[in-house]
Amino acid sequence: MAQLRFNAVMEATARQPLEVAPPAPKISQYFKQNCFDLDKMKETLAPEVYKRVKYCISQGKKIDIETADAVAAAVKSWAITKGVTHYTHWFQPLTGTTAEKHDSFFNALDGIEKFKGSALVQQEPDASSFPSGGIRNTFEARGYTAWDPSSPIFLWSTTLCIPTIFVSYTGEALDYKAPLLKAIEAVDKAATAVCKYFDREVSRVAASVGAEQEYFLVDKSLYNARPDLVMGQKTVFGHAPARGQQLEDHYFGSIQPRAYAYMKDFETECLKLGIPVSTRHNEVAPSQFEAAPLFEEANVATDHNLLMMDVMRKVAEKHNLMVIFHEKPFAQVNGSGKHCNWSLITDTGVNLFQPSSSARENLQFLTFFVNTIKAVHEYAALLRASIASAGNDYRLGANEAPPAIISVFIGSELTEVLNELETNGNIKIEKGDNMYMKLGIDKIPEIILDNTDRNRTSPFAFTGNKFEFRAVGGNANIGGPVALLNLIVAEQLTKFKESVDAEIAKGTEKRLAIVNVLRTYIKESKDVRFEGDGYSDEWVKEAERRGLPNVKDTPQALEAYLDKKSIEVFGKHGVLNEKELHARCEILWENYIKKVQIESRVMGDLALNHIIPTAIAYQNKLIHNAQGLKELGLDNTSVMKVISKITEHMDGVRINVIEMINERKRVNKLEDTHKKAVEYAEIIKNKYFDKIRYHVDKLELYVDNEDWPLVKYRELLFIK
Ligand code: ADP
Ligand code: MG
Repeated sequence: MAQLRFNAVMEATARQPLEVAPPAPKISQYFKQNCFDLDKMKETLAPEVYKRVKYCISQGKKIDIETADAVAAAVKSWAITKGVTHYTHWFQPLTGTTAEKHDSFFNALDGIEKFKGSALVQQEPDASSFPSGGIRNTFEARGYTAWDPSSPIFLWSTTLCIPTIFVSYTGEALDYKAPLLKAIEAVDKAATAVCKYFDREVSRVAASVGAEQEYFLVDKSLYNARPDLVMGQKTVFGHAPARGQQLEDHYFGSIQPRAYAYMKDFETECLKLGIPVSTRHNEVAPSQFEAAPLFEEANVATDHNLLMMDVMRKVAEKHNLMVIFHEKPFAQVNGSGKHCNWSLITDTGVNLFQPSSSARENLQFLTFFVNTIKAVHEYAALLRASIASAGNDYRLGANEAPPAIISVFIGSELTEVLNELETNGNIKIEKGDNMYMKLGIDKIPEIILDNTDRNRTSPFAFTGNKFEFRAVGGNANIGGPVALLNLIVAEQLTKFKESVDAEIAKGTEKRLAIVNVLRTYIKESKDVRFEGDGYSDEWVKEAERRGLPNVKDTPQALEAYLDKKSIEVFGKHGVLNEKELHARCEILWENYIKKVQIESRVMGDLALNHIIPTAIAYQNKLIHNAQGLKELGLDNTSVMKVISKITEHMDGVRINVIEMINERKRVNKLEDTHKKAVEYAEIIKNKYFDKIRYHVDKLELYVDNEDWPLVKYRELLFIK
């Protein structure tokens, strides 16, 4: 068995970087070459058709069938010239990845390539095995996919991919995209209405997102020699290497050649697809990296993040690397998140979270800023639910990532501004007064991009001109959290407008009415603001005093979706109805159970079939040695000690594994998905995983390196 490990180490050590030349010297020469965006439509469609499509996309209107036929014909011709033979509706089921089913353009009956508008607009994938949470009975109906024209069609390999939503025949959302689109619409409507207080020209507000993707790279041979990585993208055992990340020499260090060659290669593929990747660097842990694109509209940014992950997986294989997005693949070193940078931008080009030198604009900035904080305070439990997954539970609160407590960091300058506004409560504003000056709003500096004031421990931080939702997991579909964020801000802005209008109706001057409502919000949401160390134990206690939720495990976190308040807000803005929320929870609980179950099985199998036999074999060698020493009349106490230590840890492994398996059998019989998920968390995971791992990792230290069957951490993380 150890032979497998040594072969893998030898293969990995011998590998060289694979340099792949980009298709052209300048990125501008191939950027978007595989993506059928508005520019390509303009080139290929008749002017009236193009105008119609553009109008429908910008206004979120339905595209009629004649227009769809024209687009289909144009996109087919374009694709065929690029050697494409098939098309697929590309969608995002709740399994967390993307799905596709390829159909040929070629029609054997007519002997020609065909692609009609109806095939572009709607498809019925054979998707009966995607989770539907009971909404769609597999035997009676399939779901269908419907084209989302706001996200560009793209070419991947020899297939034309059409971004789509995935819904059941009765119209319920079965994916991440459908609710995201609705939430984007909701925030547009609510934010545009509020913008009108300040600028009547604004007619649309778009949510923007830039997602920073963290990931690990591991040599393919080493990866394949670890059954736990192969099964669940996570090492269930492995003693920390002598050198972990304590030297902090990896972060922003120079990128190792194989990883660098890989990055350049996958970035090229991304750029061809129109994904605006722009930043690359090492991350904190050894063999951990980050890729970030330029921000785009939320819907496209979400599609692009998913597509980028797919591209990254596929290109990695070419380089004999495996890319890992799991939130916590290795113990003792940092896990991977996906910081979602988010802002709202008007069609007049104003970023609503950008403080400015003009006091009037700053009242607008403060309005959106304070409303967002208030929304996070009101719906902290939902935000936690939106990032809940089996993998992310290991990362949140592991003293390296934001805790499961949702709080907001805004920096000292803005804290001062809010404090002043709050305490200035009784100021009377007379006619002719400079209200902004009296309230201190004029003091907001033009640029608060203060890098020294960065707090990396906050799950939700204001970073100068945007909020950064950092608690999102590396493997997540960001569509979930991004939809939620837009939804709760939409709700908050709607309420805000109602209150301000009510004040104005009572005769209060508009700006003062705005300030009055903001003041109440500042007071009410104060508890969610936290500027200190989010990793500290004190914060956990302090948060409890403040009554902020701190839910550690996914099954309980998801319960927030079914609160009366949640059902109301989702329903009011048409994002998800009650039935859909229930279905979603069912699916997410089910996903959770499967993930933990796989991990538990892998753990059991490895422990019983790899670890214990190895430990016994090694112990036998020691017993032989002890007997020999004794026969020679020499002291064997030292080796006897090791023998008994090995026995102790083997017992620790065996007893806990057997108990865990028995518990699993019991839990598997539970009918109720929610209850089952809770027990998988509280019993299977929380009671056994750490204990079993502890004993196995100890055995790794006792057993001869030559005999150890699993590729070690120092090999996985340091062979480059
Ligand atoms: P940092 O996290 O160090 O501030 P950047 O300024 O490069 O790094 O931004 C990180 C990510 O945030 C990038 O993906 C970037 O495009 C995105 N971003 C920048 N401005 C905005 C914005 N107004 N809205 C949404 N995302 C943004
Ligand atoms: Mg950042």
